[in-house]
Amino acid sequence: MSLSSSRRLTVQKFGGSSLADTDKMKHVADIICAQHDQGIQTVAVLSAMGKTTDGLVALANEMTTTPSGREYDMLLATGEMVSASLMAMQLQERGYKAIALNGLQAGITTEDLHNIARIERIDTTYINSLLQNGYICIVTGFQGINSRSEFCTLGRGGSDTSAVALAGALKADACDIYTDVSGVFSTDPRIVSNAIKLDKIAHVEMMELARLGAKVLHPRSVEAARRWGVTVRVRSTFQLNDKGTLVVDESQMSQKDARSVAGVACDKNQARVAVVGLPDQPGMAAKVFSTLAENGVSVDMIIQSIGHNQTTNDIAFTVNTWDLQNADAILKPILKELGAKEVLLDDNVAKVSIVGVGMIDRPGVAAAMFDALAKASVNIKMISTSEIKVSVLVDVEQSSVAVQAIHNAFFSETATEELVPSKLGY
Ligand code: ADP
Ligand code: ASP
Ligand code: MG
Repeated sequence: MSLSSSRRLTVQKFGGSSLADTDKMKHVADIICAQHDQGIQTVAVLSAMGKTTDGLVALANEMTTTPSGREYDMLLATGEMVSASLMAMQLQERGYKAIALNGLQAGITTEDLHNIARIERIDTTYINSLLQNGYICIVTGFQGINSRSEFCTLGRGGSDTSAVALAGALKADACDIYTDVSGVFSTDPRIVSNAIKLDKIAHVEMMELARLGAKVLHPRSVEAARRWGVTVRVRSTFQLNDKGTLVVDESQMSQKDARSVAGVACDKNQARVAVVGLPDQPGMAAKVFSTLAENGVSVDMIIQSIGHNQTTNDIAFTVNTWDLQNADAILKPILKELGAKEVLLDDNVAKVSIVGVGMIDRPGVAAAMFDALAKASVNIKMISTSEIKVSVLVDVEQSSVAVQAIHNAFFSETATEELVPSKLGY
């Protein structure tokens, strides 16, 4: 189909808190109609209403502790179908041509993997014909179908990825992610009241912040935005005058936007595993981590320390909380073979991280983070770094204090002079 070169198309995405009840849904309908009335073709991607997905997960847990992926995803996919159907009805009630499409009807094909599938293809033929015919398309986020037409979900928060992928496939002019905060902040504004809203953030920084726990965007949505060159704006559903935050290519960050640290993130879904008393000889780490990898357990921070008697080592590492029991079950049976003493588990931890392109080659940034934690009496259990991030593992009870202290060090008026955002360039 040939698309008019002058067509204007924007994908809008609305999260669960923007759709928590029918009054909020009607407010969202106002936003969708306002865009359509400007002659802009509109695809709206919707999450499930409020905490619906949590409710569906809880229902599944009442039935079984081991749900089959196929049925679990079929259940979870219904949440988005409720909101999309209701929204289309509301738009039709107002006299608009509107249609609700689930993942199958929207032509979204995923890999054959439940709970955390990646989108592989989007066939836009049907959506494009609907748009050409003046329809507003309301598409369910968070879902697609595999080669056997089974629903596959994209991982919690995955509606952002649905929206950006659709925007890429439809060659939309922009993708607006409407949410319950007015953009991307220097840290979660619900934890730190003086968090600063960022006008722009670079893809690499946003991707890292999202991976490290900043919920505001699904990590894969940022990956997709970068890959397909989609202009993503994060903005508030409730403060429509606010321009929000643009997620841009690094090359579009000006000197004014440059800063040593773009943001502070916190991830409470972390746990620590320690394999204690491993013989101090080659091959031990290889055996531990290859066994975990073969069983699909991803590991993040790793520390090896020498035991008291100097002949053994302890290896500690972090996993996602949902992998903790799995890691234990995998390691316990090989303890004897390894000659190790025991496996210790701790899920009372959180990972707090700073992210910023501007910290490359600036060791002072990590030192300032550790200093802030020391002054706040927060004990660091593990550390890991990359070129653009520093992460520390702390007690979960201390994580909010840690985030606040680190944020003060980099973003308050009393922040260390040479680390103040405006003083640093790339
Ligand atoms: P939605 O339901 O719209 O998808 P989410 O709850 O997934 O919204 O994401 C928005 C939430 O992300 C905010 O309410 C906020 O608490 C949290 N958040 C965490 N880190 C940040 C950050 N750096 N900037 C903005 N919001 C953040
Ligand atoms: N409804 C899904 C969730 O709660 C997807 C999303 O909201 O993005 O995770
Ligand atoms: Mg979300």
